[in-house]
Amino acid sequence: MNPITESCRPSRELGRALFRQLSLYEAAAESCRVDLSDNTNLWGAPPSARTVFENAETWMLSRYPAPYSRELNGALAAYLGVDPEMIVSGCGSDDILDSAIRAFAEPGDLLAHLDPTFGMIRVFSTVNGISTIGVSRTDSSPADALVSSGARLIYLCSPNNPTGEVLDPLLIETVVASASGLVIVDEAYAEFAGASSVGLLARYDNLLITRTLSKAFGLAGLRIGYAAGAPRIVAEVEKSRGPYKVSSIGEQAAMAALARDREWVNEKVGAVLANRDLFRRRLGDLGLAPLDSGANFLLVPVADARRTRERLAASGVAVRAFENLAEIGDALRITIGPWPMMEECLAALETAIQ
Ligand SMILES: *Cc1c(COP(=O)(O)O)cnc(C)c1O
Repeated sequence: MNPITESCRPSRELGRALFRQLSLYEAAAESCRVDLSDNTNLWGAPPSARTVFENAETWMLSRYPAPYSRELNGALAAYLGVDPEMIVSGCGSDDILDSAIRAFAEPGDLLAHLDPTFGMIRVFSTVNGISTIGVSRTDSSPADALVSSGARLIYLCSPNNPTGEVLDPLLIETVVASASGLVIVDEAYAEFAGASSVGLLARYDNLLITRTLSKAFGLAGLRIGYAAGAPRIVAEVEKSRGPYKVSSIGEQAAMAALARDREWVNEKVGAVLANRDLFRRRLGDLGLAPLDSGANFLLVPVADARRTRERLAASGVAVRAFENLAEIGDALRITIGPWPMMEECLAALETAIQ
């Protein structure tokens, strides 16, 4: 008997049982010429943020950052028009969502969401011991169904990923007004929709609105997300999140972009909206019917998403494939970028959907 192979035999599971159903996140596997798979800003990064990196000082690398990024939170508060003590920031809005779920639900509790929605919400729920329930978008009264599900937490996403749908403000307010627990409204794509629930924060203290610098602001690589909510909500999220989640150089670069690159962001948002309209019409010419979108992507129903995605990848175009979405079926989610990229995608699609 070989004692080494013997001891390597997986005779017992060391990990937590609920982690066994989880797998690692898979981004667009191939390195594609035209990557339209992740809804980032395909024009690049804002110029002032770049300058901060080029002129980085040693302390930004050698010392710990501010534990809760209060300076950055002040700049984000000014951007949203709320008080600084109503802001929490973190390592992407993913970090905020994970921390908020952990702070506001006990293991065994339930989180309710509309279906389909942002897939990571189920992952963050699972790692925190929370079960999830999906409510149909076409339910006769989705607000009632969400609230009466008995969920401790309700998650809404507007514009919604992956559909692009901008939720009815009345639905959002009805849910917030009648929910017994915390309602999270994910506004990762708010800049493209020009609509936000931030105004509700003046009236409701059970609302947390998450945002990010990863999409319109072109800073996905920095991993900076944030959320706005009543000070006592935000304080709980900060406890759950822990200190030092935003790097010093990330904080400085983000503040530079917020102070000096708003025009750059607005310009790129304008270009997304124009290209999205044109791209939608050209998809129509191919016989495709994308869903209405308030975001920087279109969800395009197709017969076989996996096969179409593979064919597009073979011609150097990456998109995100979804199979069997509730009430939609198979679909591709395609990020809107500079027009030459969209032209390449259209050319590749024309053959891929044959
Ligand atoms: C991209 C995305 C996020 C995550 O953004 P990060 O701030 O980069 O973590 C959160 N929610 C939705 C709906 C997204 O699409």
